[in-house]
Amino acid sequence: MEIEKEIKKVTLGHEIGAGAPCLKCKDKCEGFELHFWRKICRNCKCGLEDHEVQLTSEESRKVGRLFEDTKYTNLFAKLKKDSVPTYPGNMVTVTNVVPTRKDVDIKSVTYEWAPPVSNQSLAVRYIEMLPKEKQPVAGTEGAIYRKKQLAKQLPEHDQDPSKCHELSPSEVKQMQQFVKKYKEEALGVGDVKLPEEMINHAQAAGGGGQGVEGPARVASGTGADSGSGLVAGSAAEAGGVSHEKSRGRGTTLAAGALGTPGAPGALITSAEGQTYSCHHCQQPMKPGDPAVYADRAGYDKLWHPACFVCCTCAELLVDMIYFWKKGKLYCGRHYGDSEKPRCSGCDELIFSNEYTQAEGQDWHLKHFCCFDCDCILAGETYVMEKDKPVCKPCYMKNHAVCCISCQKPVEPEAQRVTYGEHNWHAEPDCFRCSCCSKSLIGQRFMAMQSKLYCSVECKKKTVAQGKP
Ligand SMILES: [Zn+2]
Ligand SMILES: [Zn+2]
Ligand SMILES: [Zn+2]
Ligand SMILES: [Zn+2]
Ligand SMILES: [Zn+2]
Ligand SMILES: [Zn+2]
Ligand SMILES: [Zn+2]
Ligand SMILES: [Zn+2]
Repeated sequence: MEIEKEIKKVTLGHEIGAGAPCLKCKDKCEGFELHFWRKICRNCKCGLEDHEVQLTSEESRKVGRLFEDTKYTNLFAKLKKDSVPTYPGNMVTVTNVVPTRKDVDIKSVTYEWAPPVSNQSLAVRYIEMLPKEKQPVAGTEGAIYRKKQLAKQLPEHDQDPSKCHELSPSEVKQMQQFVKKYKEEALGVGDVKLPEEMINHAQAAGGGGQGVEGPARVASGTGADSGSGLVAGSAAEAGGVSHEKSRGRGTTLAAGALGTPGAPGALITSAEGQTYSCHHCQQPMKPGDPAVYADRAGYDKLWHPACFVCCTCAELLVDMIYFWKKGKLYCGRHYGDSEKPRCSGCDELIFSNEYTQAEGQDWHLKHFCCFDCDCILAGETYVMEKDKPVCKPCYMKNHAVCCISCQKPVEPEAQRVTYGEHNWHAEPDCFRCSCCSKSLIGQRFMAMQSKLYCSVECKKKTVAQGKP
């Protein structure tokens, strides 16, 4: 027994989530086992995100790989040269000492992920501003929610051709170009800051490769002449906020390299009591509350932590990983969907010019298959069962309703009569009087339990014979 278990572990160990129990199906699923191309569980047909997935090293490598060769790579530890950067996940444990009447109460909370900022209280405040059920506190539904969203929003097969099913060389090439393009143009990580810290601070022209570390600080009164009076960090002190560790920013500023003079709108004008409103809900930010900035969007836009969501699914962008396109924030999945059709069979984006559209969904030609037995359905009769196509034999075996008269399943194309919870073939042999066998198609009838009668007489006769 033990050995058998071990073997199963070893053979499936390379797959993310292998063996994880299904949260929806509970005992009915033996554990997650990846279908060879569908990206769902072979045992229960639920997605990976429905299973109790541990954040494995594989999964953190997935996020690391997403940011490989981007300006965000510095967020992720490079193990060795040429190796894939891994995603530390930034787990944080915070210990709060709360003085009570008699004693002190020490509470410690572990966040499975916290924004990577040096000021820990800012990070905690950010998390507290998220809906309670979405806060990634270890051991709570919020932590499960985050893991689900990592699987859902960042499909591995949207970035890694080797995770896709039998791509042609030209599809691989197109996919690589697609990945390169979104890394260059859209992908980013949110940046948590206090809006009041940003007053007087301009966006660095061109970013200067500072990436997620935020904009360079330029304090200036006029904007037309931003080369003068560079004071780094002073506003932060004035605002009563602890001085941030300057990560080499000051020197850049002193060199004056960032003073692109007169760039219109490049400066956030300073004004006493100026309010900032959230790009999503348009409501003002409260003083002291952190906001999320996205450098792809520009530092003139900011979001409430709970408003940093995908424009399509409206879910919180997991770990603040976003895709920016035409003024909108997307999660990875929905950015992909906005660029390419997605195959309803295998969940991959379609890079081939040839694909099928059926039932309002897109399919690789080779993936328009029966959901039950995987046989190819092109040119075959199929039935949509809960939005999934199934072949006729599987329909008859697994889904068809039975005629209560002849006890045989009703063909998908056959006429059928439904009355209450019962079904009949709409044929004289099946839909008929239980007593005199007269066909009831198009006739008035009476029903008693599962029996049909043409008249009160026939019904009485049957009851009298004691076989209702
Ligand atoms: Zn399941
Ligand atoms: Zn399963
Ligand atoms: Zn908002
Ligand atoms: Zn989304
Ligand atoms: Zn497909
Ligand atoms: Zn089938
Ligand atoms: Zn029948
Ligand atoms: Zn009758």
